[in-house]
Amino acid sequence: MKPHANYIGGAWVPGPDAAENINPSDTRDVVGLYARASLEQAHDAVAAAAAAQPRWAASLPQQRADALDFIGREIEQRGPELADLLAREEGKPLAEARGEVQRAAHIFRFFAGEALRAGGELLPSTRAGLAVEITREPVGVVSLITPWNFPIAIPAWKIAPALAHGNAVVFKPAELVPGCAWALAEIISRAGLPAGAFNLVMGSGRALGPALIDDAQVAAVSFTGSEATGRQLAARAVARPGAMARVQLEMGGKNPLVVLDDADLDVAVACALNGAFFSTGQRCTASSRLVVTAGIHDRFVDALVARLQGLVLGDARKPGTTVGPVVDATQLQQDLKYIALARSEGAELAFGGQHHAELEGQPGHYLMPALFIHSTNTMRFNREEIFGPVAGVIRVADADEALAVANDTAYGLSAGVCTTSLKTAAHFKRQLQAGMVMVNAPTAGVDPHVPFGGRKASSHGPREQGRYAAEFYTVVKTAYVAA
Ligand code: NAD
Repeated sequence: MKPHANYIGGAWVPGPDAAENINPSDTRDVVGLYARASLEQAHDAVAAAAAAQPRWAASLPQQRADALDFIGREIEQRGPELADLLAREEGKPLAEARGEVQRAAHIFRFFAGEALRAGGELLPSTRAGLAVEITREPVGVVSLITPWNFPIAIPAWKIAPALAHGNAVVFKPAELVPGCAWALAEIISRAGLPAGAFNLVMGSGRALGPALIDDAQVAAVSFTGSEATGRQLAARAVARPGAMARVQLEMGGKNPLVVLDDADLDVAVACALNGAFFSTGQRCTASSRLVVTAGIHDRFVDALVARLQGLVLGDARKPGTTVGPVVDATQLQQDLKYIALARSEGAELAFGGQHHAELEGQPGHYLMPALFIHSTNTMRFNREEIFGPVAGVIRVADADEALAVANDTAYGLSAGVCTTSLKTAAHFKRQLQAGMVMVNAPTAGVDPHVPFGGRKASSHGPREQGRYAAEFYTVVKTAYVAA
């Protein structure tokens, strides 16, 4: 098997070594071999981006729009093939993988339009004879570092705005999912960009970080991943000599879904099932805390357990599968550790939690979603991000306690409330301390054209996606012009 190469300065460059990309639904299946770039190659990628930066920044908006439109259309045309690759390397059921690929296509097409919409402001000065112009310029070379749980959508929502706003890119995907990243890079390589405007380096973040963050030619770093890595990365970005790098961090979550007495039971159960367990719970926006008021608690738990019994755990690419495997053995161990911890903390397992080392003769990382009841918000499993199919139901007396519990977390990415009262919905919408609030909708699942991001320890820096992406991918210039 020939390894898929890195893409540096407009050329495909093999790495000094390569890693196997393993299918979590069947660990005998090697999706492909993917290069692991050396640190020197990552520096080469940064240098190539720096060399291309002036030309890409000066490109006409229509050129950028056409390139992004080309990428979006090809992703869309190859949707089924890319979704199959995504399901195979990450373990997301095919239907969800198709949705993610479609979303990536929409993101590129949205930012094709954004390239043409860049504008500025012209203001009167407070002083006579002057006018003030406010314009946006590209920030410069950007390093984009992504996690494994959305192998194509998260790269898309960083690469598309970066390129649309005239920045040269060095993209480093997560080690576990180089397949979608490489396929995306291959499409971008044919989109008509100048050599070096887009670069792909694959491999370990720890090994390549010194180039992606510390290299003085990198103007900005956009990172999505764990809180621990994000904190380290931000510290390095400001510690380096000379100009500091601008940093955008999207990190963990411990998102609450509040279910109030007056909720529509079917809606609440559907929100919980989707929010907590779809994508095997491996979403930063997953509803891992289900905060339920006493009047509906028992009915809610019974109905949710009934729906959980209908889930089909299996190979992500098999028709009918509704829950795929956990992404790898390390994440599986983490999920199992938290299931054991929840038990030892006194929570009661109402459903699931069984690990299957194989299903229908296929070795894989299979874990039946686990629902705990009689849990409290002080239990560690309800405070720390698990990033797997594990959720705790927290029973509360009333809406006031529900709101207090929902906000009692270090994180603030997404929060949901299920209620049929407009007045209560409005109150929660205002009072939930999260970047995104969902009313009678799952905490996970967002639109491609509106801001995405959180508060507290979930995020740092400006929002991603939509028009708001310009806050990170451009720098503002204020010019005073004497008439
Ligand atoms: P991770 O932090 O282990 O890795 C994320 C990326 O950072 C990978 O590409 C990795 O190679 C790279 N990396 C690791 N160490 C590095 C270093 N020292 N320097 C530079 N890069 C480094 O996270 P993960 O396990 O891939 O993803 C899971 C985490 O991502 C969860 O915490 C989840 O909540 C979070 N996440 C957040 C969002 C969001 O938008 N808030 C979305 C998806 C996932």
